[in-house]
Amino acid sequence: MKLSPFWHYIEKVDSLWHSLNFEWRKASQEIVDVFKKRSCADLSLLSYETKEQMNKNGFFSTIAEDEKIIATFLLTKRKSEIKSLYLIMSTNCNLACSYCLYAPSQSGSLSKSGKNLTQKEIFNALRLFQAKTCQNKRDAPGYWEQITFYGGEPLLNMKGLKFGIEMIDRIKREERIWGNLKIIIDTNGTLIDDDFIDFAKKNQLSLQISIDGPREIHDSARKFKNGKGTFDRVHRAMEKLSKEKVKFLPLITVSPANINFLPKSIEWLCSNFAIDEIAMNLLMHTGGDLGISYGKLAAEAMLSGHNTAKRFNVCDPVFDDVLKRFAAPNIASEICGAGIKIAAFPGGNLHACQALENCGEGLLGQTTDFDEKCLNWQEWKKRSRFSNQNCLRCPVLGLCGGGCAASAFVASGSINDIDPYYCEWIKKLFELWIDGEIK
Ligand code: SF4
Ligand code: SF4
Repeated sequence: MKLSPFWHYIEKVDSLWHSLNFEWRKASQEIVDVFKKRSCADLSLLSYETKEQMNKNGFFSTIAEDEKIIATFLLTKRKSEIKSLYLIMSTNCNLACSYCLYAPSQSGSLSKSGKNLTQKEIFNALRLFQAKTCQNKRDAPGYWEQITFYGGEPLLNMKGLKFGIEMIDRIKREERIWGNLKIIIDTNGTLIDDDFIDFAKKNQLSLQISIDGPREIHDSARKFKNGKGTFDRVHRAMEKLSKEKVKFLPLITVSPANINFLPKSIEWLCSNFAIDEIAMNLLMHTGGDLGISYGKLAAEAMLSGHNTAKRFNVCDPVFDDVLKRFAAPNIASEICGAGIKIAAFPGGNLHACQALENCGEGLLGQTTDFDEKCLNWQEWKKRSRFSNQNCLRCPVLGLCGGGCAASAFVASGSINDIDPYYCEWIKKLFELWIDGEIK
């Protein structure tokens, strides 16, 4: 018998907490002391009554029991289907944002030689996605499929983008598939013109536009390569889209530049545009030191940003889901799309993730010869907090989404490590929940 790794003593509420079945238990001081000392606790010194009590409450477990619990989660991850395709339309970008993961040389993200995805490469990627999704259990409840046009800046490859959308349309019609396929264009918004707006409207595209707040906040981080702020261009595009009734989702990257003004930025967005959703994104690690407790501050800022948005009936569905986990605790799915996502890059390479092109860690081969048995794919499919010993001993294990593998790689050199920003962020949310700040 050993102490269960899933029970934890939480000092703030003087109770024991189970990280997987989300139970709270009060316990005697002797039992609390055992959990406080955990690694150096001598169980043989416990009285018979205490041992009985601990046994009855499930405070002990065997290695076999723990392994069974963990294996169940890992199996679900390994069985996941490919449901998402990222088309990296260009590895070029016309901006130089201060927090961009792709820019720093140490990040191992986009290669330096900017290239566009060719029509042949788009064709191959879409045919591969068609072949993979055809094998999926599409009748399963909650089933979804998504194609994201991404970069760099995807609008730098407008010809390719139009070709891709037409081809998706053709596949949908000819093969009678992808009935509920979501198509997303993830753009910095600076190249949106009337022609693109017509195109987006005609094809009912979902646009995600990066905007970090009002002019002075946005421009302090999101700049053109000559150092000039991009706010005016993005703002003009958003106004035109609103006028033409083209729906868009404002993507706010929570960075040191706006972390103290997040509610203000959200209030500005909600009062100036007819939006019903926003997305607040955590930064990915860029290998440097931000000089602040970024994860903790981001948790607090996002919670108040969320409360501000609620006043306007606007929500961030992803953040909302995280908060719902606390209201009705259940085991969170991994937030990392790797293992259900493939990313096609200019040059014909296929990757497990859109963010690590340059380091080879996510390389799956060519789009035309992808074999799911390849080592890198198997490695990414296995990646989970349940295969990380440090996570297994963490009180937030069940509620945590495991963070971003690319961010972990940039921070420490391994995709299987902890994503430091996400880890600090979700732990702070757990603390805020215990404090009653999350209802
Ligand atoms: S590693 Fe990060 S960027 Fe890549 S798919 Fe996972 S969450 Fe997304
Ligand atoms: S990533 Fe951090 S918060 Fe999440 S389970 Fe691992 S150690 Fe805990």
